[in-house]
Amino acid sequence: MANSAVVQRSAKANPFEIAQAQLDKAAAKLGLDPAIHAVLREPMREFHVSLPVRMDDGAIEVFRGFRVQYNDARGPNKGGIRWHPDETIDTVRALAAWMTWKTAVVDIPLGGGKGGVICNPKRLSTTEMERLARAYVDAIGRAIGPEKDIPAPDVYTTPQIMGWMMDEYSKLTGVYSPGVITGKPLSIGGSEGRGDATARGGACTVREAARHLEIDLTKATCAIQGFGNAGQFAALLFSQLLGCRIVAVSDTRGGVYSEQGIDPEAVVKYKMDNGSVINFPGTRPISNEELLELSVDVLAPSALENVITEDNAPNIRARIIAELANGPTTPEADEILHRKGVFVIPDFLCNAGGVTVSYFEWVQNEMAYYWGEEEVHEKLDRKMTKAFHDVLEVCLRENVDMRTAAYMVAIQRVAEAMKARGWV
Ligand code: NAD
Repeated sequence: MANSAVVQRSAKANPFEIAQAQLDKAAAKLGLDPAIHAVLREPMREFHVSLPVRMDDGAIEVFRGFRVQYNDARGPNKGGIRWHPDETIDTVRALAAWMTWKTAVVDIPLGGGKGGVICNPKRLSTTEMERLARAYVDAIGRAIGPEKDIPAPDVYTTPQIMGWMMDEYSKLTGVYSPGVITGKPLSIGGSEGRGDATARGGACTVREAARHLEIDLTKATCAIQGFGNAGQFAALLFSQLLGCRIVAVSDTRGGVYSEQGIDPEAVVKYKMDNGSVINFPGTRPISNEELLELSVDVLAPSALENVITEDNAPNIRARIIAELANGPTTPEADEILHRKGVFVIPDFLCNAGGVTVSYFEWVQNEMAYYWGEEEVHEKLDRKMTKAFHDVLEVCLRENVDMRTAAYMVAIQRVAEAMKARGWV
């Protein structure tokens, strides 16, 4: 069945080249110092590791892993670890660059990093996953730490995997170190509110965008591509907090649509029980391609990169695109969407709620004092709302699209830190 976003992802699009092209566009607009621009075009440091892991059948399998530390001018590097069969060093570089802009745009004192392992977690047993997690930390342990680089979960990595990694790091150093990694289970220093933070932060930006565009969200429809952590919580929270009607959701196996609306809680439970959203009762099937082109008020790509390209951008009918996924839109598609008047909330702003609560988790770990859920939600809302308006202000003042505006805000903050430290 040719209905997954895998098919839509352009074979040519290199995420890191896209990240560099986005930077170049904003740098030109800012008249950025060429030395600062040159530093910001490349990662400051990267690690490539081979991870021999004993599988349950006794054989050794060797996995390739990466950790990229893109820029730590504003504080320790911060960024998730993705386990995916299609992982590449350029994907990790791009994600590390976007983390640098993300921590800067929400103004938290951290830099940008990212990690990845080429593997298919769906084929690994729990014990194999644990050995892989520990092997990864054994390989990069000297490069990470609460004051150096703080990983977190990303696609197909979970709080349990973070728990094993924290344990391995603590064993390596001989020091209990919850602050080395975020997204941990609550019992070992996870933060209240981390689970749904990405979607909750995204909901704050959609709320502010709708206010700006004078869209009544209680009458709005919403389609969500990807139904993992970001997508499932988006369905729940866009419905509960914003009053949107969720009309379509999808995962790797395909999508479902209902004009009347899909009950978010029921479809989350259905996905848990059945492994996919397909055939959810009361809906009709649609492909991932069709979902992106639905006439909805809010479209939330929440799976992987490069799903909105120059091929399908002309057909996009959403009024707001809330990029919960990293890198869902290519630069060519961006131009088309901007000309069409689609309001794009760019990834590193829209999905910054995850890293913001990860930052809160790290702060709580470092001071060994923990906040309640309400306090976390309140602090998150304040950060996201301020970040959205910082970007909107530049967007309106400079007459640029929201992504370029977000880059301009973030680049200026990183550049200022680099200058203050005397790097350039
Ligand atoms: P996840 O592993 O929990 O879920 C991924 C979901 O995407 C799954 O439902 C899967 O079925 C679906 N998917 C995968 N490939 C697909 C395809 N080809 N077509 C359609 N659906 C597909 O991952 P997640 O944490 O929800 O991350 C999703 C996106 O959000 C990624 O781009 C990630 O970098 C970004 N993001 C996540 C967080 C977070 O805190 N979880 C934070 C910031 C950004």
